[in-house]
Amino acid sequence: MIERIPQATAKRLPLYYRTLQHLYSLGKNRISSSEFSQSVQIDSATIRRDLSYLGALGKKGYGYDVGHLINFLRGFLNQDEVTEVILIGVGNLGTALLNYNFHKNNNTRIIRAYDIDEAKIGKKIADTPIYHLDDLLNGDNKHIPAAILTVPASAAQIVADKLVLTGIRGILNFTPVRLSLPDHILIHHIDLSVELQSMVYLLKNYPLNPLDKGGE
Ligand code: NAD
Repeated sequence: MIERIPQATAKRLPLYYRTLQHLYSLGKNRISSSEFSQSVQIDSATIRRDLSYLGALGKKGYGYDVGHLINFLRGFLNQDEVTEVILIGVGNLGTALLNYNFHKNNNTRIIRAYDIDEAKIGKKIADTPIYHLDDLLNGDNKHIPAAILTVPASAAQIVADKLVLTGIRGILNFTPVRLSLPDHILIHHIDLSVELQSMVYLLKNYPLNPLDKGGE
């Protein structure tokens, strides 16, 4: 049983899993560590270290057995279990995420969405029903581990505080607001402008090899 792996590693594992699945679907059964490194755009030393935390090691001169690694990561990432999440704020971004609904990553599903706009309440987007935010605390979300936050910045903190009351433990925060929440809540902040800026910086400063090598 693996106790704890570094957060940076935990963040990269789903990327490895998805990439390996893609390679497998292309008929690849075995992959060299440099090929794998190129596919995920992360240097092979980091990959090796990440996988060594799980006890999954490639063989020297052989690389990785793709099917074996997929099975291993599937178990580790609980891919056989569907995790249900909710989404708050069905505007431009929220609607796009509902339409996407993590098709490629079949173990996570947005099962309900919430908004305050009466025109949206009671409707469905890609089969996901939209409820009023007032229903957030009615008990339905007791077993839900995480929420996606796509409300305007002005509403972010107040909605996040409400989410904490549902018993949620993780928030994927797309708003620009730095949320202030109890320590036990895991917040992943996705700031697209910061990502873009940092990419532009890398392109300018490392014009020949701008890729993030996945360092921590
Ligand atoms: P939007 O205005 O289109 O949608 C916001 C939705 O939240 C609306 O449906 C609104 O009715 C709802 N809402 C407002 N207050 C609410 C509340 N208290 N509880 C529940 N729902 C509430 O905004 P958007 O463009 O989808 O952006 C949403 C958030 O994501 C913003 O914080 C924005 O900065 C961020 N963001 C947006 C994009 C983008 O491409 N649109 C990209 C990155 C980040």
